[in-house]
Amino acid sequence: MDDADFLIVGGGVYGTALAYEIVSTGSSVTLVEADRLATRASGGPGKRGVRANGRNSRELPLVHEALAQWPSLSELLGAETGFERLGGLMLVDSAPEQGEIGWARAEAHQRLQATFGLASRLLARDDLAALEPGVAPSAAGALFNPDEGIADQRSTALAYAAAAGKLGASIRESSPVLDINPGSRPAVRLRDGTTLRARRAVVLATNHGTNALLERSAMPVLPLWTMAPQVLMVQAKDDYQPRHLVGHLAKTLSVKPLSDGITMISGGMRGRWDPRTNTGRPVDASIGESLDVAASVFPALAGGALMTADAGSPETYTPDGLPYLDFLDADRRIFVATGWHGHGFAIAPAVARHAADWLTSGRRPDVLAPFRIRLR
Ligand SMILES: Cc1cc2nc3c(=O)[nH]c(=O)nc-3n(C[C@H](O)[C@H](O)[C@H](O)COP(=O)(O)OP(=O)(O)OC[C@H]3O[C@@H](n4cnc5c(N)ncnc54)[C@H](O)[C@@H]3O)c2cc1C
Repeated sequence: MDDADFLIVGGGVYGTALAYEIVSTGSSVTLVEADRLATRASGGPGKRGVRANGRNSRELPLVHEALAQWPSLSELLGAETGFERLGGLMLVDSAPEQGEIGWARAEAHQRLQATFGLASRLLARDDLAALEPGVAPSAAGALFNPDEGIADQRSTALAYAAAAGKLGASIRESSPVLDINPGSRPAVRLRDGTTLRARRAVVLATNHGTNALLERSAMPVLPLWTMAPQVLMVQAKDDYQPRHLVGHLAKTLSVKPLSDGITMISGGMRGRWDPRTNTGRPVDASIGESLDVAASVFPALAGGALMTADAGSPETYTPDGLPYLDFLDADRRIFVATGWHGHGFAIAPAVARHAADWLTSGRRPDVLAPFRIRLR
């Protein structure tokens, strides 16, 4: 038996950030990870976008806080997160005189973001072309946020884990949890037969592994599913790269310039996820589609060399389009943080700080109230 105040299952960015924030309050933490740290959604190639654009209003207070945290996070944790404040563009194709809604949508997003203190502004075509010269003439403008950027998901999770370890958190890799035993002192059973007990709560930061673990523990599963987003790495001709983190209001696209000259293309195209083997692989048809969409927005990406196609990082989705952050009805000592919809990374620093406050004080911060698990 090895007791801690909080037992965290899962060593992605959420498990490690929660470990750091909880141990910083003076509570003891043990984190167990099935594999190595940061090998699933918080692993894989490339970087992650740190963006406000395109989010539900309920996430905007968190993204506002997180955008303030990111620039100094490496210094706080004592290790590099790879954050680069590139600025983010959400492109709009249609002009209002064409009777399309692109601008109206962009204006509505901008107005909403401004009410949450975000620095987003609308750019007309000329200003957009000056900022991002390679963008296709079809782009009529953009919503621009100078505070957005990209960061390295793996480095960030490892930085949180190292900082948590320095403050006394115990971190065990290669330790899959077989099941949870609920009760006044909930316990988890590891594959090697060890039982770990929590004095306060068990925290499931297990992302795609959440329902399988609940099922093995004879607890009700949550309404969520797993998807494997597809990531392409392209070396463009003449070493062309976009300059910003770029998304599109109407197209399935996210483009990130990486420091090695490669352009990362993702944004919602799916690979094929096999729940039996817990592996994902790219789908040829969506590779072609993704490259076509990227080239329609950045013509200089057309005909570039495809260096890698990856769909090995599973992410979890919920019917409401919002994550779940709550104690389970089945046991109020088991807390779940999952359902990040392909954009959980950017807000992790803010979410982890508030969730740690909730777990240690027993009071749910208002900013996390929208992420209740409401099953009736
Ligand atoms: C390809 C891709 C692109 C993305 N792009 C962006 C982006 O641009 N911007 C953004 O903000 N977000 C993005 N995201 C989302 C973001 O990366 C995720 O929301 C975030 O990394 C989730 O972190 P996590 O810790 O919840 O999950 P994970 O990193 O998946 O960690 C969960 C961990 O739990 C472990 N685990 C599961 N079951 C068990 C068990 N029984 N016992 C022990 N351990 C267990 C797993 O091994 C895993 O390491 C992207 C995600 C993907 C996959």
